[in-house]
Amino acid sequence: MHSHPLITEQITTKKRSEIVDITKTIQGLVEIRQIREGMAVIYVPHTTAAVTINENYDPDVKHDLLKKLETLVPKHESYYQHGEGNSDSHVKVAMVGNSATVLIEQGKLVLGQWQGIYFCEFDGPRDREMYVKLVDFTS
Ligand code: ZN
Repeated sequence: MHSHPLITEQITTKKRSEIVDITKTIQGLVEIRQIREGMAVIYVPHTTAAVTINENYDPDVKHDLLKKLETLVPKHESYYQHGEGNSDSHVKVAMVGNSATVLIEQGKLVLGQWQGIYFCEFDGPRDREMYVKLVDFTS
């Protein structure tokens, strides 16, 4: 088993709430490092941005996910105490999560037919980072 050095990827978001499909970016890293069998751990080191895996075939799913999170977690609530005014963003990250792990087989990310990896911005637009750790099981 061989662990590759930590990779830092930059992501620039354009809206306050936005889902960015990063599947091709992660697959590209797997190909550059020629990993045939292993795993990719994707970690988002922010308190108002997240990562998840969901349907990337129908773009309406991204819209619906963001809209539902907005209705579940409104931007303004009378009881919010956090002074930055982005309590909703923190709560959304707590719901969605900061990491995703994807297996790699025959040089490809193992994802379902309709699945993609989503970077989730909840307090943009901002310049963001995500960490990717690739592990090669065969070397
Ligand atoms: Zn905050």
